[in-house]
Amino acid sequence: MTLQDVVIVGSGPNGLAAGVVLARAGLDVTVVERADTIGGGTRTSELTLPGFRHDVCSSVHPMTLTSKFFREFQIERRVELLVGDISYAQPLDPERAAIAYRDLERTSERLGDDGRAWTSLMAPLVDHTQGIADFTLSQLLRIPADPVTAVRFGLRVLEQGTPAWNLRFRGEEAPALLAGLSAHSIGQMPRLSTSGAGIFLGALAHAGGWPIPRGGSQSIADAMADDIRAHGGRVETGIEVTSRADIPPARATLFDVSPRALVRILGDEVPPRYRRALARFRYGDAVAKIDFALDGEVPWSNPDLRSAPTLHLGGTRQEVAAAEAAVARGEHPEQPYVLVNQPSVLDDTRAPVGKHVLWAYAHVPHGSTRDVAEAMIRQIERFAPGFRDRILAQHYSSAEDVELYNPNYVGGDISAGAMTIAQLVKRPVVSRDPWRTPIPGVFLSSSSTPPGTGVHGMAGYWAARSALRHVFGQGMPSLGVAS
Ligand SMILES: Cc1cc2nc3c(=O)[nH]c(=O)nc-3n(C[C@H](O)[C@H](O)[C@H](O)COP(=O)(O)OP(=O)(O)OC[C@H]3O[C@@H](n4cnc5c(N)ncnc54)[C@H](O)[C@@H]3O)c2cc1C
Repeated sequence: MTLQDVVIVGSGPNGLAAGVVLARAGLDVTVVERADTIGGGTRTSELTLPGFRHDVCSSVHPMTLTSKFFREFQIERRVELLVGDISYAQPLDPERAAIAYRDLERTSERLGDDGRAWTSLMAPLVDHTQGIADFTLSQLLRIPADPVTAVRFGLRVLEQGTPAWNLRFRGEEAPALLAGLSAHSIGQMPRLSTSGAGIFLGALAHAGGWPIPRGGSQSIADAMADDIRAHGGRVETGIEVTSRADIPPARATLFDVSPRALVRILGDEVPPRYRRALARFRYGDAVAKIDFALDGEVPWSNPDLRSAPTLHLGGTRQEVAAAEAAVARGEHPEQPYVLVNQPSVLDDTRAPVGKHVLWAYAHVPHGSTRDVAEAMIRQIERFAPGFRDRILAQHYSSAEDVELYNPNYVGGDISAGAMTIAQLVKRPVVSRDPWRTPIPGVFLSSSSTPPGTGVHGMAGYWAARSALRHVFGQGMPSLGVAS
């Protein structure tokens, strides 16, 4: 059998980003995907009723505006990214809501006494999100290109990741906004890992906003797959790779899979020391998700919430922290933190005229099989009485179902590895090039490598760069749209 240049296992955003880079470098690339459609965590599908297009996983894409890969790829020229006035919102009781507008000043004005504190927390970062992205979306074992921004970011992460987190605030709204942001990375708070994610997402909310792709996240995956094909590559679906025998031999093989799956697929090829290191990699707590087809907009008690694409439900900072602590103890909280996305308030392609789609997920213990749909609906009803009457159809996935849908999400952990401070450095091993494995020509490119979770394409970008350097002796190609 002839030796191909590159085979990539898995068509998530990282696998496709790697494919784009390597195909653009003039190499012969084949991407192999187990599912019948491409995209991994960037798929959109009619999960409930015909005409209702749901993002199966990711929905909101602030990192497409800051990630080095998506900026070089010029995603904004390929996919229409819709950005609303509101980035995210968090109701504290039926009438009272904290709202993060894209406009920092407007946000601070609404936060009353805490407005100045919010501005002083966010303003020094908002104009420098590129500097933060350079630091956080690469490998932490590097000297940051913009050390001043990295220090400013680090100090804020330190403040918000420790018991000092309430010192600058007097009211409840601003701390609630930060708790809702920090809870994105699933974990107890205050913690440095959760506050790091929160501060970064918070700064992005006031910089470019939190975009939603017209047509759904699938359009991001499709843009990358189109580019791979345009540069001579192939993307093949319906092929589950269980061993080397399932893929053609190649000079470089990139795996957009979890470390656990890598060991299963490569078996005895994996040297014992590396195998032991991968076995120590920890997978985190999980999500259970529910998708709704709705017969109209959500009846939020506070009308300002009707145009918010993303909402963090759970109440005050104390309530959110308590719910997250319960999950960390292995419990299913009665009042979970619920992340809600209603993309059809910005994108009219998602549902028939007058109808809407909405997804919600709650955090649950690793591997949970429990149906927590009712707890999630109650949490939405708390801030939108009458929501239940708008439901036309729903589709529920427990944490176990999330893993069945995509084995990268081990136990329902959507980050493919707990996002702790230790595992931001040791992802999955401590190395200046963690994407390169000790097996010649084998690279790991999934979110189990730096920079971790999210649709940024950077794990694939760095893995492709390592393959180009070490296997093909080449530098990085240009990724932009031909003008
Ligand atoms: C419910 C949910 C909501 C999310 N929301 C957001 C959000 O709003 N914004 C955001 O930025 N991120 C979000 N994320 C996280 C984001 O989707 C992931 O971090 C991202 O998709 C990871 O990309 P990846 O390429 O590493 O892996 P994945 O996207 O997981 O893709 C891996 C691919 O590899 C395939 N594969 C695995 N094993 C094999 C095999 N043996 N053979 C062949 N193919 C295989 C899988 O089928 C899959 O297609 C969300 C995730 C979930 C689950």
